[in-house]
Amino acid sequence: MKRAAEINRQRITGTEMAYLYICPRKLWLFHHGIRPENEHVNVQIGRHIQETSYERQEARKEIALGGIGVVDWAELDKCVIHEVKKSKCPRHAEVAQTRYYMWWMREHGIPIKRCVIHYPKQRRTWNLDWTDDMTERVQDDLARACAVIALPVPPPFECMSICKKCAYEEYCSA
Ligand code: SF4
Repeated sequence: MKRAAEINRQRITGTEMAYLYICPRKLWLFHHGIRPENEHVNVQIGRHIQETSYERQEARKEIALGGIGVVDWAELDKCVIHEVKKSKCPRHAEVAQTRYYMWWMREHGIPIKRCVIHYPKQRRTWNLDWTDDMTERVQDDLARACAVIALPVPPPFECMSICKKCAYEEYCSA
């Protein structure tokens, strides 16, 4: 089986990995540079939460992952990374994104064992521990994401409950 690094010639980002689980059409539009002019308020709220929730945590320093994304902060001596999310509980998209970040760091010689996902709205955290089967999960995710973005046109619009919170709503429903 191909290593995910070989599959990932398209440079799938962590955000795109999350979009794979949220809506393949959104993944295609985003990857091909079609971005709504006005950033959706939910994106602004998410950024605000990330920027303000842990501002007093002295050790906090974002870590860029070679163009595929940014980890909110890390305790590298403990092999732990941290991500802050605006949702209320773990979702498949967040698991896929953070699993991808752990995989990427491990592929680059940093043996991350855990991602702590913070939910400031709920004042709780959730641990995602690395397991051996995750490499295959990431390989599968990357292959599926590459298949979506290789399509000549975006996947068709399907009206879903999440559409009303999506930045592409106007574009899709036009
Ligand atoms: S509006 Fe709905 S169909 Fe369109 S990109 Fe967003 S989630 Fe997908």
